[in-house]
Formats: sequence, C-alpha cells, structure tokens
Amino acid sequence: MTHLINAPSAFAAEALAGFVAAHPDHVMPVHGGVVRARQTPQGQPALVIGGGSGHYPAFAGWVGPGMGHGAPCGNIFASPSASQVHAVARNADNGGGVILGFGNYAGDVLHFGAAAEKLRAEGVDVRIVAVTDDVASGPVDQRLTRRGIAGDLPVFKITGAAIEAGADLDEAERIARKANDATRSLGVAFDGCTLPGAEEALFHVEPGTMGVGLGIHGEPGVEDRPLGTADEVADLLVDGLLAELPEQHTGRVAMLLNGLGTVKYEELFVVHRRVAERLDDAGLTVVRPEVGEFVTSLDMSGLSLTLVLLDEELERHWLAPVDTPAYRRGGAVVGPSDEAPARTDLYAPGTEEIPAAAAESQACAGEALRLLESFEATCAAHEEELGRMDAVAGDGDHGQGMRLGTGGAVTAARRARDGGAGVRTLLVHAGSAWAESAGGTSGALWGAALTAAGGALRDDAAPSDAEIVEALGAAVAAVARLGGAQPGDKTMMDAATPYAQALAEAFARDAHLGSAAQQAASTAQQAAAATADLTARLGRSRVLGEKSRGTPDPGAVSFGMLAADVAARLGAR
Ligand code: ADP
Ligand code: MG
Repeated sequence: MTHLINAPSAFAAEALAGFVAAHPDHVMPVHGGVVRARQTPQGQPALVIGGGSGHYPAFAGWVGPGMGHGAPCGNIFASPSASQVHAVARNADNGGGVILGFGNYAGDVLHFGAAAEKLRAEGVDVRIVAVTDDVASGPVDQRLTRRGIAGDLPVFKITGAAIEAGADLDEAERIARKANDATRSLGVAFDGCTLPGAEEALFHVEPGTMGVGLGIHGEPGVEDRPLGTADEVADLLVDGLLAELPEQHTGRVAMLLNGLGTVKYEELFVVHRRVAERLDDAGLTVVRPEVGEFVTSLDMSGLSLTLVLLDEELERHWLAPVDTPAYRRGGAVVGPSDEAPARTDLYAPGTEEIPAAAAESQACAGEALRLLESFEATCAAHEEELGRMDAVAGDGDHGQGMRLGTGGAVTAARRARDGGAGVRTLLVHAGSAWAESAGGTSGALWGAALTAAGGALRDDAAPSDAEIVEALGAAVAAVARLGGAQPGDKTMMDAATPYAQALAEAFARDAHLGSAAQQAASTAQQAAAATADLTARLGRSRVLGEKSRGTPDPGAVSFGMLAADVAARLGAR
C-alpha cells in the first residue's frame, strides 16, 4: 500500500521531480527522464539505462560518473515511450554513441528498439543490451529470452566502469554482453505490490507460501512452496543459482542480495548469513558483496539473489569507483569531476530544426505526405473491421491504433512539409508521431518502419526507383528487427516478409517500380488472408492463440491494405 500520494496518475512524475531536487549535483531533468548534471567528455559512449518507474534505485538512481549517463523513466511498471528514450539518449550522447540498457521485457524491447531506429536515422551509433539474468523466467538454452531483474545493477555498474576507464562503444558493448552472460539471479516473493492509489495489490501470494521465481510485476514463477525459514530460503536461492554454474569459472563472484520493497534489512542480513556460508562451502569467493535494495518493485515483499562470475576484467570494473545518487563506492572516479561544466543546450522533442533540403527531395516529401494521407483514409475506413479482427484473440484496438497512428503521422508530416523538409526528415518525423499517437505494438512497429524508410532516403536528392525499393525493404527489416517475429508466428511479418521478397524480385526482373509494388501488394494481401490458418504465437494474442484460428491476423491484414496504397501512389508517379 502506498500511503502518501497526490493524484495517482502523477505519482511517477512527482517522485522523479523530488528525486531530481534531492540530487542536483548528479542529475538534471530532460524530456522523458534524467541525464547527468555535468558534461561528459567528448567522444565518450553514453550508457542510457531505463525501464518503468517503481523500481528505485533502478534506474535513475544509477546516473552519475562510473555508471549511467541518462535514464528514461516510464510510468509505474510501464516502459518509457520511444520518444522518452530517444530524447534522453540524444541528451546523454556526446559523440561517442549510445548503449541502451534495460531489463528484457516486451514493452522495453519495443520502445528502446524504436528509439534506436530513430537515433540511427539521425546518425547516432546505438547498441542494445537487454539484461536477462532471471533463471526462473526461461530454460538455460534460451538464456537470452529471459527477463532482467536485479542483474541490471552489476551489468550496468560494470559497463559504466568500463566506459569511465576509456572503453569505446564496441568495447563497452562487448563488456556489457559479457557481464550479462556472467550474471544469474533467482527471486522469491511472499506478497505482491500495490500501484499508488489502488485498493488492491496487483497480485497476491497465498499466505504462508512463497512464489519461487515470481516476476517483479507478478509474472508467474516456477512454483509455489510453503514459506520456509530464512535459512531454507537462502538454501533455495543458492541451490537454484549453483545449479546453473558452468564447469569452468574462476571461483570469484560478485553477489547481490536484493530486497524487493518490504523485506527489512535485518531480514536480508539473516538470510545473507546463510548465503555467505553456503557460497563459501561451494568454494566461491565473494568479491565486494552487496546486501540491500537495488531493484525494487514498489512494496513487493520478496528478495532475490544475484551472482556474477568474475574474471579479472569484470572484477576490476565491478570494484571501480562509482558516484551516483543511490550507488556509491569510494575512490576517485576518473573522468568528469565537480569542476566539469554544467549541461547546457538540451534537446526536447519538437525543438529540432528541419534540415535544409533539395527541391527534388521536397517534392518527394510531398508525395510521401499524400501517401500517408491515403493511409489515414484507408485506416479510418477499415477501423471497425480491423478492431473486430483484433478482438477475436487480442484486445480489439488495432483499428483504433492504426487510425490514431496514421492520423498522427499525417499531422507531423504536414508540419515537416510546411517547414520545407526533405523526404528523409518528413518520414522520420512521421514515424515518431505514428508510434506516439498509436501506442500499442503495431504503432511502435509502423513508427520504426517509417523511420527506417526515411533513414534510407536523402534530404539532398530525389530517390531513384531502386532507392525507393531499398527504403521499403529497410522498413520491413526494421519491423523484423524490432518485433523479432518469424513467418508463421501470425503477425504483420507474415505479410511483410513475402511483400519485401516479392518487391525485390519483381523489381530485379523488369525494373518497373509501379508494377513491382503492385505485385508485392497482391502477394502481401494473399499472405495476410492465409494467416487465418495459423495459430498466434507472439504479441498479445499468443495467450489466446488457439482462438485466433479461422481469423486472419489484423496486423497482417492492415499491412496488405497499406501495401495497396503504396502501389497506387507509386503507380501514379
Ligand atoms: P497491441 O497488440 O499492442 O494491442 P495492435 O492491436 O495495434 O497492438 O496490433 C496488433 C498487431 O500487431 C498484431 O495483429 C500483429 O500483426 C502485430 N504484432 C504484434 N506483435 C508483433 C511482433 N512481435 N512482430 C510483428 N508484428 C507484431
Ligand atoms: Mg490490439
């Protein structure tokens, strides 16, 4: 239960404002989150870490020398939007590129991924590192699909230290992945957490029992067990992690015993007494143990144990000094000191200038705007139909999302056109607006598609037909990259993949753009209709997968419709 609130909807933003006011030497607010208060060295990679709010000190509490450069802060337990991530990353970047780090959750993957597409279209080098430490959330042979919990702390601590020590972007990415590979966590929960202002907890654990491996937002765990003594809980956590120990290791580990919200420090210490004994018995040397609250879940009752298998490199970075609001370790941090100048020149969405463009690219931007207008008309005309399709196994909002998304894209594209934008800039702006206006999975994917198409085109020249084919291919590739869906999963990709293939093949045959686009659109529409025979395996409808048989995938169907609009526009050129 959260006792002290004003308006529940303002809770996350008010908490962030109070946090910033408490740590003016470390952080400053920007659109979407916080960045370091002081300038970082030119050319240093920026580590941008984030996720939903409600997990303090993750993530904003870890911004400062030796760790994060910025943290986008979503609403309580909700991923930050792509524009929040983008704005924080723009402000954190100082010419050295950006690592986007977050726990592996579907919403975060999508929104950080969409922000990465936009940053890349703007010329920023971006690497994505999703933390996957929770052993209870997936089998060991699918380690990279597991979700991230308290392992966020050591992975970001080690990465931040490597950057402080001079790592460039490639090197920082390598160390971040290595740290994630070396990190495992297991948690137990005794009771759920309550969103600010809510009467009831998000979930409960039966009194007298504990949920082993239960997620930090109540995602199901591996089993329920009778609540044991402190030593029994310690044994369960240690045994669970030792079971995953590889045969080869140095015997040196970093250890984190993490309280999730309402477990007292004294209780943690009682558990830690036994954990330390057990690790010692197992022949492991703990390097700089940490016991306390690191990744919390509001007032969730529970705890987790994290081990990081260290080699010399990881140990050096684990032990390096760090100076953030919530995580400090002594010694002088190399790099910016108190004397570093305060930040100026902050970026906020909507304030970016429209780059000068060649008249030919402006003319093409006008055509792109007309295409988006036809998208909007098509989606408005089919809103109900798409909604009904989505309601069969999804949440019924696909028609609405497509209408709002295309509407937002048109508004942004008009503004860009009026400002003299070329086709690249117009599409990149329209992509962000689509994702922002639509919300939802398909909005983020379509937003990234437009952004990637724009990124493949130029403001200083009109695209050739071949370049238009490439840009359409880049749009489909972005959806594949971001959504991670395979053909057969019953998603938009079931139409988009054959579309891109048919387009490239037809254009290679006779180099006629209009007819290639027409053939590709027919292919996409047939493929979309054929998804009726599939069972959904991804996205929200995977839970109700079987129910979706007999109905085509709404995202694939809308893709086919918009592919026809593209063909009509390109045919009219
Ligand atoms: P939400 O699922 O957030 O409610 P929409 O209802 O607007 O979003 O869109 C649903 C559509 O999104 C699905 O029909 C599917 O085509 C598409 N989709 C969902 N997840 C993915 C994914 N991982 N890759 C590609 N397309 C996806
Ligand atoms: Mg939906």
